[in-house]
Amino acid sequence: MFVEHLQLKNFRNYQDLNLHFDHQINIFQGDNAQGKTNILEAIYVLALAKSHRTSKEKELVQWGQSFSVIKGTIQTRRNSLKLEMQLTSKGKKAKINQLEQRKLSDYIGAFNVIMFAPEDLTLVKGSPQYRRKFLDVEIGQVSPSYLYHLSQYQKIIQQRNNLLKDFTKNEKNKLELLEIWDQQLVEYGSKVISKRLYFLRHLEKWAKEIHAGITDQNEELSILYKPSFPLELGNIDVQDMSDQFTLRLQKIRKQELFRGTSLIGPHRDDLYFSINQIDVQSFGSQGQQRTTALSLKLAEIELIHDEIGEYPVLLLDDVLSELDQKRQTQLIQTIENKVQTMITTTSTEGININTLKRSSIFYVEQGL
Ligand code: ATP
Ligand code: MG
Repeated sequence: MFVEHLQLKNFRNYQDLNLHFDHQINIFQGDNAQGKTNILEAIYVLALAKSHRTSKEKELVQWGQSFSVIKGTIQTRRNSLKLEMQLTSKGKKAKINQLEQRKLSDYIGAFNVIMFAPEDLTLVKGSPQYRRKFLDVEIGQVSPSYLYHLSQYQKIIQQRNNLLKDFTKNEKNKLELLEIWDQQLVEYGSKVISKRLYFLRHLEKWAKEIHAGITDQNEELSILYKPSFPLELGNIDVQDMSDQFTLRLQKIRKQELFRGTSLIGPHRDDLYFSINQIDVQSFGSQGQQRTTALSLKLAEIELIHDEIGEYPVLLLDDVLSELDQKRQTQLIQTIENKVQTMITTTSTEGININTLKRSSIFYVEQGL
């Protein structure tokens, strides 16, 4: 799939912008703070109904304005879609072919993007929340049911935490309520975990292959799911997992009451990356961490293709010129002739000359 046309109204530093894109490679070149990332961000919001860099919608609306609109025409193999996101301080509206989608989970997934930005290094190095966010965003793109189960799970966690927080001893009615939350926690939590495991099995297969391509086969990348409670991860089914989850909750009940918060479940799980069995997060070099993050991103491109039969649009924010020739070549091999790619950069120096030859270049200056 590819974005054919993008129209912005009051989005960040763009008052009115109309762009037609090349179906393959588009390069946005300009000095710092001119609005290059803002274009990629707009495309990201159009696909995922939220920004990759802020959770506050208000920040996306141009200063002094009350609303912002992003419109895009997306060509998929089957049809042409008109997508629209409206953002105001009160909330957001999402439309597909002029029809408002009441649930965002019905909107997300119509158009798929993968963003790779310098911050993505935090995927390997940063705290577990980045890795959970990575899982949630990427799985959510291809599985509306995952998004639904996850949002249910998050609501339950919030309610359950409120209950645990002001729990005083021997309140029978509260204990009964906690048991109800426990059942639901286990039900939705197990669905979330099992979907993550399924996704990771596929992701790992691709990531290994891509990683081997970058590193001449001598470094083997592995990805493990690290659950927050002891869980046999082999060929586990949802029922088994629910049973183990329930047992564990009973065991830690006292601890949870004492701490006043939910201590186990997918909101506390993590990922573990290793190269030749060595933990990349703790012992990997900068280069190994970078290669791991790149392999994961490129693996996602293939995974989305496996799941939906189309390649997503790739958004590369300030990363291409940072990659050495070998990594650039691997990246270009992955996207060549199949993945529409948007690249931002302050200079084309250090970018593989073949990429430049086959691309449209947009010069970005103060929102123009
Ligand atoms: P760099 O090369 O440093 O990454 P960039 O070209 O990617 O720069 P962006 O992050 O796209 O820059 O845009 C930053 C510009 O957008 C800044 O000039 C900032 O003041 C402006 N900006 C950000 N938010 C808003 C907003 N809500 N309204 C108006 N302008 C905004
Ligand atoms: Mg930028």
